[in-house]
Amino acid sequence: MTTSFNAIICRYHEIAIKGHNRNMFEQKMVDNIRYLLRRIENIQVKKVRGRIWVQRKEMVPFSAADMTEIHDRMKMAFGLESYSPAIMTPPDIEALKDAVRSSAAPYFNAALAQNQTISFRIRASRSDKEFPMRSKDIEIALATLVGDIFDQDRLKINLDKAMVTVGCEVRREFAIIFYESFRCPGGLPVGSNSSVLALLSGGIDSPVACYMMMKRGCPVDYVTFHSSPYTPPETTDKVKKMGALLNEFQRPGKLFSCNLAEIQKAIRDNCRPDFRTVLYRRMMLRIAAKIAGNNGNRALLTGESVGQVASQTIINMGVINAATEMLILRPLVGIDKNETIRMAREIGTLDLSNVQVPDSCTVFAPSSPATAAPMFRVLEEEQKLGDWESIIDKIVTEAEVF
Ligand code: ATP
Ligand code: MG
Repeated sequence: MTTSFNAIICRYHEIAIKGHNRNMFEQKMVDNIRYLLRRIENIQVKKVRGRIWVQRKEMVPFSAADMTEIHDRMKMAFGLESYSPAIMTPPDIEALKDAVRSSAAPYFNAALAQNQTISFRIRASRSDKEFPMRSKDIEIALATLVGDIFDQDRLKINLDKAMVTVGCEVRREFAIIFYESFRCPGGLPVGSNSSVLALLSGGIDSPVACYMMMKRGCPVDYVTFHSSPYTPPETTDKVKKMGALLNEFQRPGKLFSCNLAEIQKAIRDNCRPDFRTVLYRRMMLRIAAKIAGNNGNRALLTGESVGQVASQTIINMGVINAATEMLILRPLVGIDKNETIRMAREIGTLDLSNVQVPDSCTVFAPSSPATAAPMFRVLEEEQKLGDWESIIDKIVTEAEVF
């Protein structure tokens, strides 16, 4: 037998959302939760003073399948700290006792099945000071009830550390009973900050970078570069799949797909081979900045991390950075690869990242790229390209949008 719940209580740190933006943050969170749980029929998400509540219309209990969906999706609710499945009742002690009677068995029996005696506690709080019982009295009443339902001799109360904790909150409008809290990712609700355009490669790093900025409240659109016909359609297909995967965390962002081949050929034919990677990257940023400008994104986002590859030395990053005035966010800049891999596994992007497809940047790549390309030399090389601006304008115009 499992307990059936008719509400989910969602908690967030009010401290994070203090000030005059508070309403906006809360409203975004409500919208986002509604979106995440959209596959549950008749879902309702409401906010009542410092808490967000999820219910189904007319308080219909959640099915087992609903609960699975809730556990799956609430992991993606940026801005929330935790949530608890709960039984919501009128604010009345008899109703609370009924709720405990109908819900406690799975928790207590599971613990009793494994132990001769078990510890439990009731933790009650009331925000409605007009409720006729104090928190302490509610705890005593419910603890006595638990003693009556289960074998008294095998139970003991432990207020500090208990195997079963029964939570109870009494408010003016309703009361709840709950047993467990599940962690959410924290951060800020997506949409509470400006949108950014991520350079998404399908590697391990850039999807993690997207996740990190969504978690700071930024909706993310994506741009990816391929070098058709030198890279196969699989290169873009993989990034499309990655975009779809990342879009599970937010209202879907757009994916722009650009063919870099023409500017790469110009670079191959006119410039020093060891500078190619840096030159490609500068062009990528310029194209990305133009798309971001047209699309209303306020910053670019990459998965760069210092020291990882030749293009990510501090000197080369500086030279690449200077190609645009737009803010470039690099949330992984100081993060070890192992840590990024761990995050990618947790987020669920690692397996897809590990699928090997040819990468746009490796097309015509030099065997030994420069690790410290001086700025003035890079500018000289770009001079040799002639009217590269028209080429990148054409690439922007011809970008495909998914
Ligand atoms: P990733 O795992 O994200 O590919 P990486 O460690 O392989 O990163 P690079 O391939 O040098 O490092 O790329 C650094 C960053 O440049 C990437 O994180 C990504 O933001 C961007 N980038 C690289 N290649 C592409 C591409 N083909 N399309 C879009 N962005 C790209
Ligand atoms: Mg890469």
